[in-house]
Amino acid sequence: MPYEAVIGLEIHVQLNCPTKLFCDCANTATEKANTHVCPTCIWLPGAPVQLSEDALEKAALTCLALNGELSARSAFDQKVYYYPDLPKGYQLSQHHLPLATGGWVDISDENGKPRRLRIHHVHMEEDVAKLVHETDGRKRISLVDFNRAGAPLVEIVTEPDIRTPHEAMAFLRALRTRIRYAKTAECSMESGTMRCDANISLRPAGSDAFFTKVEVKNMNSVKAVGNAIAYEIERQEKMINEGQPVVMHTRLWDPDKNVTTPMRAKFAGPCIPDPSVPEIHMDTARVDALKQRLPEMPAEKQARFASQYGLTGDEAALMSTERDIADYFEALARNSVNARMAAQWISGRLLPALKDQNAEITDTVLSADRAAGLLSLLENESVNAKQAKELMALMFTSPKSAPEIADEKGFRQITDIDELSAILDAVLEENPDAVANLRAGKKQAAGFIIGQTMQKSGGRANPKMLSEILGRKNFS
Ligand SMILES: [Zn+2]
Repeated sequence: MPYEAVIGLEIHVQLNCPTKLFCDCANTATEKANTHVCPTCIWLPGAPVQLSEDALEKAALTCLALNGELSARSAFDQKVYYYPDLPKGYQLSQHHLPLATGGWVDISDENGKPRRLRIHHVHMEEDVAKLVHETDGRKRISLVDFNRAGAPLVEIVTEPDIRTPHEAMAFLRALRTRIRYAKTAECSMESGTMRCDANISLRPAGSDAFFTKVEVKNMNSVKAVGNAIAYEIERQEKMINEGQPVVMHTRLWDPDKNVTTPMRAKFAGPCIPDPSVPEIHMDTARVDALKQRLPEMPAEKQARFASQYGLTGDEAALMSTERDIADYFEALARNSVNARMAAQWISGRLLPALKDQNAEITDTVLSADRAAGLLSLLENESVNAKQAKELMALMFTSPKSAPEIADEKGFRQITDIDELSAILDAVLEENPDAVANLRAGKKQAAGFIIGQTMQKSGGRANPKMLSEILGRKNFS
């Protein structure tokens, strides 16, 4: 019998606020354990809690970026469970009245068909502490680090709309892009600012009923989420086909062995309304003000880049994956640089160079204004592609403009026909074999001659003009 998978995701995103959710301790990663702590976030009895306004706003912006509807009233609950990463015995989370309900993200399925995946709700919660397991001789010890305890999180809970590993990965990527546009979180699964749990069950294709679901945790990249889901679908399919019951439980993804293994169950208790954090109220005026702060979102930007600047679908998609890249591209395009050339230069040259330098597009010394000067030289063929590449490298270490550096280094391309002809003729004279091949109609010989002429000119000849001059010569 053919089965289909029913998959829902629960995604924890750490907001990029300077402080934790209920105290003023720094909300940043640090090497030294238990340094960003105070009585509130090590949860001493009686320590005061005060909800961070910044975290509330960023959480609300995140909901809006995911097309959710902010609730007029939301509130915190005490989610009771006992585990050493939560010594106070309950986590402040929103269960009965979440911050937002609904929402959706658009993706393309395996066949490129558009799919809208719905979000059930988004709520705020505090992060728990981190357990560090070590061995001391033969003894195994567990240590608790509270630096992360009380960090501001939003949890995004999807509807069970996802059917395949591809859709789950596409959802996570689209979600990350939208949240990064809103600039409310970093959303890096590798560094732990985005974590994803998947609920997976199977059902006979076309049926409404489904078998018991299994939860999978511990995936530390988008790709790992896809791999874990693929593995789990196969495992459950095999069990059902062998007549074994699927039992509801939680499994951990093991990225080294590429398998999921059962995890010890945690005691999960009730959710009771918390009396210490006041209820949150969102009136229409506040919601409207927050909506004003959202930028143009990626899908709209991509469509506009294609129509306004004539980018291809792929180019427009690349230029809109990150808000900072989009802003840089648009600054170049507004600087009357050819838009497609700008897009290709950003993706083909600038981004790889920045990756090598471990630098961000927002803080590189090669600002969009300076890059416009470089691309203008390339566009009007004052420099060729090879020179432009060298020029770019020099611009990372010099504050001078592109034309200044080009002049200093003698980078200007040779575009004078007489000068080009003279170098070309010299090369032809030095290579009688290649000339004989040209006479015999062997086209590859032309490439060789152009290459030799480029070399002789110190890389400064305009290759397009050289081809034209060579093409006009009669070798028969
Ligand atoms: Zn604190």
